[in-house]
Amino acid sequence: MVKSTGMVKGAEMQKSVCRFTYQFHRMHLMVWLTLVLFVGCGIQNQETVRIKSQSSPTVANVDASRIIQADNEPQNWLVHGRTYGEQRYSPLSQITEDNLDRLGLAWFYDFETKRGMEATPIVVDGVIYVSGSWSRVYALSAKNGELLWEYNPKVPPQWAVNLCCDVVNRGVAVWKGMVYVGTLDGRLIALNAEDGQVVWSVQTTPIDKPYSITGAPRIVKDKVIIGNGGAELGVRGFVSAYDAKTGEMHWRFYTVPGDPKDPFESLALERAAKTWKGGEWWKIGGGGTVWDSMAYDPVLDILYFGVGNGSPWSRYLRSPGGGDNLFLSSIVAVRPDTGEYIWHYQTTPGDSWDYTATQHMILADLKIEGQVRKVIMQAPKNGFFYVLDRETGEFISAKAFVDVNWASHVDAETGRPVIKPEAFYDKTKPFVSMPGPAGGHTWQPMSFNPQTGLVYLPAMSTAYPYQVDSKFEHQSFGWSTGIDDLVAAMPEDEAQRKAIKASLKGRLLAWDPVRQEPKWQVEHANIWNGGVVSTATNLVFQGNGEGFLNAYSADQGKKLWSFFAQTGIMAAPISYAVDGEQYIAVMAGWGGGVPLIIGGMLTDAANQNVSRLLVFKLGGDKQLPPLQVPHKELNPPPMTAPPETVQRGKALYHKYCGACHGNSVISGGILPDLRYTQLHPVWDQIVLDGLLSDRGMVSFRQVLTEQDAAAIQAYVIARAHQDMTNLKTKP
Ligand code: CA
Repeated sequence: MVKSTGMVKGAEMQKSVCRFTYQFHRMHLMVWLTLVLFVGCGIQNQETVRIKSQSSPTVANVDASRIIQADNEPQNWLVHGRTYGEQRYSPLSQITEDNLDRLGLAWFYDFETKRGMEATPIVVDGVIYVSGSWSRVYALSAKNGELLWEYNPKVPPQWAVNLCCDVVNRGVAVWKGMVYVGTLDGRLIALNAEDGQVVWSVQTTPIDKPYSITGAPRIVKDKVIIGNGGAELGVRGFVSAYDAKTGEMHWRFYTVPGDPKDPFESLALERAAKTWKGGEWWKIGGGGTVWDSMAYDPVLDILYFGVGNGSPWSRYLRSPGGGDNLFLSSIVAVRPDTGEYIWHYQTTPGDSWDYTATQHMILADLKIEGQVRKVIMQAPKNGFFYVLDRETGEFISAKAFVDVNWASHVDAETGRPVIKPEAFYDKTKPFVSMPGPAGGHTWQPMSFNPQTGLVYLPAMSTAYPYQVDSKFEHQSFGWSTGIDDLVAAMPEDEAQRKAIKASLKGRLLAWDPVRQEPKWQVEHANIWNGGVVSTATNLVFQGNGEGFLNAYSADQGKKLWSFFAQTGIMAAPISYAVDGEQYIAVMAGWGGGVPLIIGGMLTDAANQNVSRLLVFKLGGDKQLPPLQVPHKELNPPPMTAPPETVQRGKALYHKYCGACHGNSVISGGILPDLRYTQLHPVWDQIVLDGLLSDRGMVSFRQVLTEQDAAAIQAYVIARAHQDMTNLKTKP
């Protein structure tokens, strides 16, 4: 069977090894055995043999000239944002407003996991390269979805306790016949694009610290650029460049100063250190992780990366003498050859609200006040949409794109936000900030359409009560944000929860970056929705948390087409073509940070959680298998613990369990909902002895006593009884 890529696939030895798929994850107590401990028969040990045909180019032969001239081959999606400028705009024009009614499912591929899917697929010459949960990599025929090879880096499930936001991965990079992926446990791995065999693998992070990689690598001038995450748990951020061929490290840029006893790693850091005052941030790490966005301008030869929040969250704990705390929440511009600092722009000086500037950055040329400006645009978590000069870092403009109350505005002269003094909360003075730590926008990619001049932006209106934990002590286990978790716990009263849910708004915004105002907006049923792609034919595609992939007109936001995917969609769609047919593809599957913590309160959609690649074309007529939603009933043991034990358990639950099993014991549908657990007889064995550690539920004995475990159990049982009346049949 000869493929368009010129490869012959053969000798597929499907050993079909039945094995457990690790649905579980990290930090928290309890696990719920029966449903999630699901046994799957996978295609794990598949071997594929490829023979290159004489006439075809090398497989996945992506290089700088192809990426720079990506518009000459719109059938491919060569890099994360399609171009180095990350515009996520497809010039393909076969699918139009007029024929959209014929757009249907061409094929789909169901992955073995049921965890969050956030990746943007890469398409090179008829092959899709994409990552799934647990940092797995897949190569599929772009025409029919046939699996060409699969690579599983076998991340230890116990590593999940070191993750803030699900076992996700946002994509791979492809370069000169190799595929690159960053893994949850901090490895950067180069695979042979022909067969998925490992070419090299390096550990990019200290393995004794809770670092993780979920972001897609970028490749510039034969260097693989990779960052990492972990600021919620306590790490020091950095970004590194590795030789694409050998894996040798070329440079590393630390984003925050380290131990003052040690020499500075760069002049930029020496300058940055002057903006940190008092405190011992380096013992916790300081934060500033580069966990997602990058962009590259090949003409200016500037690499841009976005820097995340502080560790711990509040400046009050981190740098009690004040200061901007550079380079937290900043866009940093460097030379890709050396990592040498060029300029930075800090979106949130003194960040205390988890306001990362790791969100998608787009390079474009915009006509502003009669002048064409080379700009970089970002809508970071803090709620302001920024337009900067990408050559100099000069501030051009910023406007709030969602409700913002931590700052009144961004000053046009200084380019600095005018922060309200009361926003700097402490141990006694809380502050309910808009946006909250989920941000006005987070990792879900935007799209810039040069035809409409608009940026399509998945926005969220959220709020969050921040207060410093008066008993804060950093511990190297689980979240360590220094926030009073109890203050932020959702109410247990159903009516109050409904009111909060109603106040959370998710929308697709079409933002005019020149006028800094919305052109149109579409309201969604919940805040957690998908990334965006726009096309040359006035179309915008976006999935949503209710399980639909929709198409809108790019100029007016009119809904033109909809497909029910049965599962929530977070990832951004792409468009590509094979043999003259245009396709729209999107990774479907619910998960990520927000759904883990409050997902159960966000949506009423009774969907299943499937990890699935959906691919559409004109005339596509495939059907999805029937929706399967497990039926569950609340059946907790009797409530015997005194109220004070339940209250103590509530505080401990929100400190150690809520980030995975859900605030107020309402699961987002990704990890077990403990209200329904039948594992009470083996509670201590799970929570303290690590009975299910090979599923990601590690022992919590280093932070919890037997009395603590019993108190948490009492709280969980109490929550199940509370909800029995109104949630009897809800899964
Ligand atoms: Ca964060």
